[in-house]
Amino acid sequence: MTGDDHGGGGPLLPTGNDPDRRDVAKGPVLSFAVGLSAVASCVPLRPPAVPPGALPERILVRTNGRIAAVPLEDYVLGSVLAEITPLNESAATVDRIYEVQAVLARTYAAFNVSRHASEGFDLCDATHCQLYEPARIGTSRFAMAARAAVRRTAGVVLTYEHQPVDALYHADCGGYTASSDSVWGGSAVPYLLAQPDDMPTLTHRVWEVTVPIDRLRLTLDADPRSQVGGHLDDLEVLERDVGGRAIRIGIFGDRSPIIRGEELRAIVNQSLGAGAILSTRFSIMRTGDAFVFRGSGFGHGVGLCQVGALARARRGESLDAILGAYFRGVGLARLPNAVWPAW
Ligand SMILES: [Zn+2]
Ligand SMILES: [Zn+2]
Repeated sequence: MTGDDHGGGGPLLPTGNDPDRRDVAKGPVLSFAVGLSAVASCVPLRPPAVPPGALPERILVRTNGRIAAVPLEDYVLGSVLAEITPLNESAATVDRIYEVQAVLARTYAAFNVSRHASEGFDLCDATHCQLYEPARIGTSRFAMAARAAVRRTAGVVLTYEHQPVDALYHADCGGYTASSDSVWGGSAVPYLLAQPDDMPTLTHRVWEVTVPIDRLRLTLDADPRSQVGGHLDDLEVLERDVGGRAIRIGIFGDRSPIIRGEELRAIVNQSLGAGAILSTRFSIMRTGDAFVFRGSGFGHGVGLCQVGALARARRGESLDAILGAYFRGVGLARLPNAVWPAW
């Protein structure tokens, strides 16, 4: 990782969702780099760990294998600089997108603070939770803008019924966001709904990946959820959500398991790399001795779409408008124990 670009050769997108995934994929010609607050294939929703109406004072974050106790707003700053690099944007857009990301990062931390409690810390520094790279505070050209955005929003979180929400986000919804229950199962969350993400100036990513059938069979066989046996005949999307995401996929071979779309993505990417199947908004075609996945978007699709939020920031939309476009019926609140950072 160098500078602000998540590696050389242009903006790259961390690909979210799988624990410990640090691979990156070549992005399209995007002018920024984003990461995902990912939530692994487990059910993502846990009750808030902080008392109602309170923010965690410090986050115990595991970074480079060590656990550091970081004041909340310092954690937010180290996260937003790792999650977003708004290259070639106007100063106003930079300011707004860092405000958006600061509220997301803080809200995510407040809601998910006990995520790694059984391991003795709160959050990890990878896409499994949120990216966190405190070194960027000293190196990023956006440090000053991000710092000011964090300070302007200090203590502010997204709330639903007066509680911090599970502030999920992803790089690119592909044109339609997803509800949390359709992606991971569990019960519906009133503010995490599937909806179109359309605007004249907003372009979502399209992609295609070809996987040789033998490679796919070995990959599927390596995971108990998708074991197909000696040969693989077909893959078929059995159910899609309202936005076109593959929810249930039938695997046909010696054995014929049915798995969730996000499980298939995780299993395949575990073997082929995080940049293989970028989202479950895909179609599957058999061509000769390979399967071709054609899709749009990048990430799980739940909550805020980062390319969409950036397009809205460019249009001069307010912080409330941008967040309100992706989280239904939420409010913004500065919690009573907000602490303004010393910087
Ligand atoms: Zn984590
Ligand atoms: Zn979108």
